[in-house]
Amino acid sequence: MNIHEHQAKEILKGYGAPVAKGAAVTDLSQAEAAVDSLPGPVWVVKSQIHAGGRGKGKFKELGQDAKGGVRVSFSRDEALENIREMFGKTLVTAQTGEGGKQVQRLYVEDGADIDRELYLSILVDRAVGKTAFVVSTEGGMDIETVAHDTPEKITTQPIDASNGCTEADAAKLADALKLEGSAREQGMKLFQTLYKAFVEKDMSLLEINPLIVTKKNEVQVLDAKVSFDGNALFRHDDIAAYRDESEEDAKEIEASKYDLAYVALDGDIGCMVNGAGLAMATMDIIKLYGAEPANFLDVGGGATKEKVTAAFKIITSDPNVKGILVNIFGGIMRCDVIAEGVVAAVKEVGLKVPLVVRLEGTKVEEGKKIINESGLNVIAADDLDDAAQKIVKAVKG
Ligand code: ADP
Ligand code: MG
Repeated sequence: MNIHEHQAKEILKGYGAPVAKGAAVTDLSQAEAAVDSLPGPVWVVKSQIHAGGRGKGKFKELGQDAKGGVRVSFSRDEALENIREMFGKTLVTAQTGEGGKQVQRLYVEDGADIDRELYLSILVDRAVGKTAFVVSTEGGMDIETVAHDTPEKITTQPIDASNGCTEADAAKLADALKLEGSAREQGMKLFQTLYKAFVEKDMSLLEINPLIVTKKNEVQVLDAKVSFDGNALFRHDDIAAYRDESEEDAKEIEASKYDLAYVALDGDIGCMVNGAGLAMATMDIIKLYGAEPANFLDVGGGATKEKVTAAFKIITSDPNVKGILVNIFGGIMRCDVIAEGVVAAVKEVGLKVPLVVRLEGTKVEEGKKIINESGLNVIAADDLDDAAQKIVKAVKG
């Protein structure tokens, strides 16, 4: 689960991290109070969407010359004008995709006196099987370019889970970031604080870009992007309360209600599969035959007819879906349950696109019988290869 920058800062502030003063605006009527709650003389108005690259983003409704989604404002009036101009508009950044995201809230923050912009993140580094800090002196809006062109400017520091972020770890990070004097002292404390927050709140990513050194040689968290491990949310009611469903894919929200592992993708072949591995293989083979999957969907092992029905409805509600491939290898999952779910869903919502069904394993004969007797216009397939070719042919002609 992702949250907004201002929410992430609220959490980090609770741990004692140095964060600028700010106020969120979720309705235009709050604009003046938000601006007046800060002393000035510089206000920074920041679009809150679940995507990065806001500073360099462009608003769809405004011209190419208009400023981006993070605006430094030098007077109260300018700050208010920026709030009014950005609110409700669609911000397109390198991370939103072409469609962009509607800005439904803004964050007004005290302007910082920046000397240097650094990069810091904490993530789960699968290569070493540990949590790791990734830091660079070259922070700010071009970190992707730095990672691509000059990877030697990025330092990775794995952390031993049993010891946590030690003084020695913190010192190495401070060295890598060339922190000195008061900034070094504050930085070392901050790294340990951030690590503690990461672990305690079951974060999967904590990215501070930029972490700044101010002209007074103090460190400050200027941007914060946090993702949480969805499987651990049940033990963090405080974090779950930060969820902003308007930022999420409606189909993914519906799927989560039924505990379905569903991820929306850009292609046009909807997939219903049991088992994550088989789902991945199904997506691969669709690509192999020249098409793109519209989603990843694992209905799981012990899915009920209701769950299968819900899954099928989610797939058919996607206007991009031009064909559906049901690929089930029955083990614990029974083919007849899948067949019943598919038939029930089609009865309810109809079927306007070709449907290829490949069933194998437990209760396969019963499953095929249910489908055959349903009168549905189904293309039967014998194996995965056959199924993928048939659906791609049905969609592409
Ligand atoms: P994004 O990464 O989505 O573009 P950031 O929050 O990193 O958004 O903001 C982009 C840039 O705007 C920062 O790199 C920094 O230079 C500037 N900025 C952001 N917040 C402030 C602030 N409170 N004071 C001064 N400058 C800021
Ligand atoms: Mg940033």
